[in-house]
Amino acid sequence: MLSVGLLGLPNVGKSTLFNALTAAGAEVSNYPFTTIDSNLGRVPVPDPRLAALEAAVEPAESTPCHVQFIDIAGLVEGASRGEGLGNRFLGAIRQVDAVVHVLRGFADPGVAHVFETVDPVRDAGIVETELLLADLEVLERALEKRRRLWKADPRAHAEEEARLEGWLERLRRGEPLRGEGAEPAARGELKALGLLTGKPLLYVLNVDEAAVTGGAQGAGRQDAGSGAPDVTELESAPGAPPVLRLCARLEAELRELEPAERREFQRELGLETSGLDRLANAALELLGLIRFYTLAHGKLRAWEIERGATAPQAAGRIHGDMERGFIRAQVAAWEEVVEHGGLHQLQPLGRLRTEGRDYRIRDGDVVEFLFSP
Ligand code: GDP
Repeated sequence: MLSVGLLGLPNVGKSTLFNALTAAGAEVSNYPFTTIDSNLGRVPVPDPRLAALEAAVEPAESTPCHVQFIDIAGLVEGASRGEGLGNRFLGAIRQVDAVVHVLRGFADPGVAHVFETVDPVRDAGIVETELLLADLEVLERALEKRRRLWKADPRAHAEEEARLEGWLERLRRGEPLRGEGAEPAARGELKALGLLTGKPLLYVLNVDEAAVTGGAQGAGRQDAGSGAPDVTELESAPGAPPVLRLCARLEAELRELEPAERREFQRELGLETSGLDRLANAALELLGLIRFYTLAHGKLRAWEIERGATAPQAAGRIHGDMERGFIRAQVAAWEEVVEHGGLHQLQPLGRLRTEGRDYRIRDGDVVEFLFSP
């Protein structure tokens, strides 16, 4: 399961967002490997395709993909120097797959702002600087050890040396390492070292309710009347992380309602999709993951996998034995399964494809694996 860390300055709405995310029947537990006050929540990823398959196939059981969100106590300026929660805080996010950086975009004078004014671009810069400084320290320390090793056998380590020294240069120039993980070897190294600026990043701009509802229903509420602050500067840089706008407080309120009531209220507010649904899906997308579905023994299940994965790799996502003993896969697009009420109904129609080891799974495939145990 992929894990996503929520970070940001204090009072930006991280906990509100985390509570909203986990209110939907997710399990919340204390973060097991640190002593700081952070929480883990396993959140189902809302999936309209899975819902359509459920309605068509009526399985005994249906399981969506899950994302693990980790709420980490607020970051303060100076964290990289060990101030505030400092390095313990940073340690907690070194192991996540992706980072969601929550930015304060709501005015509300009733909620103190660490820097007095609402300025998400400035805040993003402050947090980014802390992450850069923390990475610089980690990498410098790692390099000190490795340079001694490299000296003993320079040829054998030329590639690793060039890569890590290159990263150090980038960090010294104040450039994050995002995008360096395109190659699997580099990605593994970024993760092993726990370099924070190398992780895929998504900004959540936590805006006033009026900014997401168009103001109509927000009128009269405490935080009505202000639009979303301008974050063009964050969004327009080449390769800039995506920015997702939502109102955490409203999302939390919506989560407290029964599903039918929630849909009604959402419609009244003119919210087409809930911000939380967009967030969970954006996290999958950020990591370049696609979803496929299996339908076996009355159990429907969604699985996430890297784009470009082959059929045996997808089988391995379910069980190692299935990858090792992979024979072939029966595949159909989810729309066809919905239309005909099941995978096997497609066989007599000649619409169930048989695919071999080289087949690359497509987003939305419904797959049945044949394997020799
Ligand atoms: P954290 O320190 O980043 O975890 O922030 P919290 O989630 O604890 O929120 C800090 C304060 O901001 C709380 O009083 C929240 O009720 C309030 N808050 C969070 N999200 C919103 C929002 O979208 N709009 C408004 N007006 N207040 C919010």
